[in-house]
Amino acid sequence: MKEIEAKTILTKVKPSDEFWYHHDYNMNLYRGCSHGCIYCDSRSDCYHIENFDEVAVKKDALLLFEDELKRKRNKGIIGMGAMSDPYNPLEKQLEVTRGALLLIEKYGFSVSIATKSHLVLRDIDVLERIAKKSFAHVAITITTADDELQRRIEPRVSSSTIRFETIKALRKSGIHSGILMMPILPFINDTLENVDQMVKKAKESNAEYIYPFFGVTLRNNQRDYFFEKIDLLFPGTKERYIKTYKERYVCESTQSKQLYLALNTLCSQENIITNMKQINTLFKVPVSVEQMSLF
Ligand code: SF4
Repeated sequence: MKEIEAKTILTKVKPSDEFWYHHDYNMNLYRGCSHGCIYCDSRSDCYHIENFDEVAVKKDALLLFEDELKRKRNKGIIGMGAMSDPYNPLEKQLEVTRGALLLIEKYGFSVSIATKSHLVLRDIDVLERIAKKSFAHVAITITTADDELQRRIEPRVSSSTIRFETIKALRKSGIHSGILMMPILPFINDTLENVDQMVKKAKESNAEYIYPFFGVTLRNNQRDYFFEKIDLLFPGTKERYIKTYKERYVCESTQSKQLYLALNTLCSQENIITNMKQINTLFKVPVSVEQMSLF
């Protein structure tokens, strides 16, 4: 197991309730991710992560984390999973994410996790307790309802079917949960059939929301990796990307208008939220601020 030096774990963030979840802090206990998603943005050059597929854990992560929690007066919502999946396969043995959740519970903070792994269910006991005291939310990324297609684009992580079941279990335990439906890859899973199946399964799993992006972003390094993979997995598709998007960063599906319309229509029929402002109404927990003692 590789360890990396770290000075801090928590980063203060300015919540943007319109486009992303209302988090007060972000944290990553691991660096890199072995789930192998062909479109992963965290591979991009700008993040300077060498050997991205090899997961490294931050040295003394929990000691650093506890020290930071003790000193924070604003007991806000801590986001996990922005740059690497907190439930990568190493977590099964290391239990660093679980340790962090226990500390979040101990110090009265709230938590919002993004993951693709059903391993999060191992920690449902802690999440339930946090949900009762303050607030707990788990976003599960699902980009296709088709397990066979999912295995090709996200090869080393729980199947889509298992991820829907994960949401169902979380919801049963009183934990907020919904679907991050992104990225949706042009010419691969940007179909009305996919939207239709996703909404059906979201409803069955009692997901509170689906937050979509019908497109993918491509940057240096990540673009090369993505093109290499789609060339092998979906012959002819790389050429369509080059012809349609050239070197563009945002590659929005050419079907995006129809897809957003279909998703919004189907979701409103099923009472599933699709916009971030509304999703963030679930996050409206009173933020507790400890009073500083004068003496
Ligand atoms: S799970 Fe997330 S961080 Fe890991 S490879 Fe997939 S997209 Fe990247």
